[in-house]
Amino acid sequence: MRIRTQIIATLLSAATLIGLVGVIAIFSQMSLTRSAALAEATSVGQQLAETIAFKASDAPRPLFDRLEALRDFVTAQHRLSKRDLVVVDRGKIILADVPGEEQNLGKPFDHDSGNEVGRTLDDGQPRDFVEDSKDVSEAIDLVAVPIVVAPGKVVGAVLFEYTPLLRAAQNRTNTMLWVVGLSTAAAMLIATLSAFLLLSRFGAGLSGLNKGIEALARGEAGARIGRVSKDEFGKLARGFDNMASELESSRRQLVDQKAYIEDIVHTVAEGIVVIDGEGRIVSVNPAAADIAGRHASKIEGHDWRSVLEMRGPSGDRLAQGASPVELALATGRRHQAEVRLAKPDASQMPVVASCNPLNRAGGGIVLTLSDISELRSAERAVSDRAEELAVLNRELKETSQATNRLVKLGELLQACVTFQEAFSVVGSAMPDFFGGLSGTVHLTSASRNLVEEMAHWGDIRSSVGQFSPEDCWALRRGQQHVAGPGMLTPRCNHIVENGGRGYVCMPLAAQGETLGIVHLCEPAAADSPDWLVEQQQVLRGVVDTLALALANLRLRETLRQQSIRDPNTGLYNRRYLEETSSRELRRMERSGQPMAMVMLDVDHFKQFNDTFGHEAGDLVLKQVASTLLDHARESDVVSRYGGEEFALMMPGTSLADAAERAEALRKAIKQLHLTHRGRTLGTITASFGVSAFPDLGASWVEIVNAADRSLYQAKADGRDRVVAGLGKVDPDWDISTAGQKAG
Ligand code: GH3
Ligand code: MG
Ligand code: MG
Repeated sequence: MRIRTQIIATLLSAATLIGLVGVIAIFSQMSLTRSAALAEATSVGQQLAETIAFKASDAPRPLFDRLEALRDFVTAQHRLSKRDLVVVDRGKIILADVPGEEQNLGKPFDHDSGNEVGRTLDDGQPRDFVEDSKDVSEAIDLVAVPIVVAPGKVVGAVLFEYTPLLRAAQNRTNTMLWVVGLSTAAAMLIATLSAFLLLSRFGAGLSGLNKGIEALARGEAGARIGRVSKDEFGKLARGFDNMASELESSRRQLVDQKAYIEDIVHTVAEGIVVIDGEGRIVSVNPAAADIAGRHASKIEGHDWRSVLEMRGPSGDRLAQGASPVELALATGRRHQAEVRLAKPDASQMPVVASCNPLNRAGGGIVLTLSDISELRSAERAVSDRAEELAVLNRELKETSQATNRLVKLGELLQACVTFQEAFSVVGSAMPDFFGGLSGTVHLTSASRNLVEEMAHWGDIRSSVGQFSPEDCWALRRGQQHVAGPGMLTPRCNHIVENGGRGYVCMPLAAQGETLGIVHLCEPAAADSPDWLVEQQQVLRGVVDTLALALANLRLRETLRQQSIRDPNTGLYNRRYLEETSSRELRRMERSGQPMAMVMLDVDHFKQFNDTFGHEAGDLVLKQVASTLLDHARESDVVSRYGGEEFALMMPGTSLADAAERAEALRKAIKQLHLTHRGRTLGTITASFGVSAFPDLGASWVEIVNAADRSLYQAKADGRDRVVAGLGKVDPDWDISTAGQKAG
């Protein structure tokens, strides 16, 4: 049933109910009114009946028996109450009646159609009835009350009218009936009006809501009711409008979000493929179409197997059900794997395929394809780079080993004191540097006219031991010279037959001086100088190190010579003699050999200088030195002891032998023919003092002092003579006073 009908029915039912209740109330009121009027009439009738039946003590008979008095009583009562009053006897005969009705007296009362009076006379019970008489214009309501003179003895009845009472009551009831009727009608009217108003508002509200809902259902996002009333429909309308605007903004947000998500899906670099539970491709983004190598329209709607051929990471075919898509579709769980995607043009692209199950009825997955070809090529590049690095590292290690060796070589060479030591170091170190290559180090002599081999290593000897500097192109040009099979460069003259092998000569140059060469010979004849490329850097390092070390050695040697030689005579100086003497003395002591010491002093040299000049004096000193060297043995140390004084240390020579050799020297000096600037300088003589170990002392000082003592003795004895072994050491003897003693 429609709500409108329900409302109408409800309102009408309520109005009807009100009317019904009113009618019932009226009828019950009417019944009550009648009962009340009847009760009152009965009560008055009984009082009248009792009065009529009452016999006063001062009266002879009751009123009933006194007809005249009875009729007066009735007349008086009627005058008071204005109501009908009739008294009948036991036989229903009218004994008294109201004035005007005298004709009825003595006649039976027969206006009770139901014989109600007769029955009251019979049973003594009051009864009401309606008099239906032609004499009266309208019906009269009467009550019949028995007149009882003694208990159970009814002698007559009083018929008493109660119509006015009833009429009054009925009038009241009628008024009420009107009121109720009008109220009911008004209620019905109000109900109808209310229903009409309610329904019209209800209808308007509902239709507004309906229209709004229908518009919303049609998808009109801007649907609004716009009702401004303050009733519930207004509230509902406002609620609806709020809901509709929220819906509209949510829909707008949804649209925005959808566009945003679509934007992302369209622009993302990863391929996105949506596959339904049946394996059919629902949608793909441009990246996926690109990766698959097909147009999106050729992919969407197809079974994924027909457009996405997946292979293993190395391009091999995958077993049935082993691809991540099949696994994800079968298990409903996430699966990811690196695969190669075979494209229609037969190329393959390495991708990472991630399958994520969709959370919807019917299943399905989202397949994400990430192109990792760049990653793979980057990995390849990295591994290539790693290999290159490993090679570099190896080379670096080798270089570092070579550098370490070079440093060690440098240190060893620095520690060398003589060229001999240096070249022995070079000879043993070079095979380490140059592996199987043979080679030599040649050094240019001090005279610069000879180049001599100082060290050799390896099996091949491809250079002569000695050659002139012009024979080597490296020395001539002052730069590295490489020659070999297939090369236009000339071969050096110092290269002997080496089976046509290639070789390199590298000048040893340091501090602006070319010291010699390092020569390397290739292990086996080859057509290209590749063998050298590997060694070039090492060779350069070795040559630089060696050149520097040799230059230092040469410099050191020069300095040493300068520090131990007398520049005028070229003989050792006194410092060198003293340095050497103690070492030699110990050596002799160990080997049980003697060691002689000869000291000589040119006689009257001051005078000579004064006569011929200092330059001539220097010449004399040189000649004496030369004579001493001529007479010296290899092991002897000939030194200028100071001024015109010389000393000879003769290891292994006894005192006697030394005296002999001193004598020979004395003679040789005396026989010198000296000229200076064409001028004859005359004869010079020298005095000699000879001592020896162990005869004249155990220490160098003792021996020198003994030689001094003899020399001074020789001077004292007249000069130009040899004095040997002059006594043991005198502890008091002092060289500073010896001359005075001797003089
Ligand atoms: P005596 O026979 O006693 O040794 O007499 P002398 O003159 O040789 O001895 P003296 O000690 O009196 O003189 C040494 C001289 O030697 C003094 C000095 O002029 C000279 N003399 C020292 N060294 C050199 C030198 O290098 N060149 C030259 N020309 N003369 C020198
Ligand atoms: Mg002297
Ligand atoms: Mg002298």
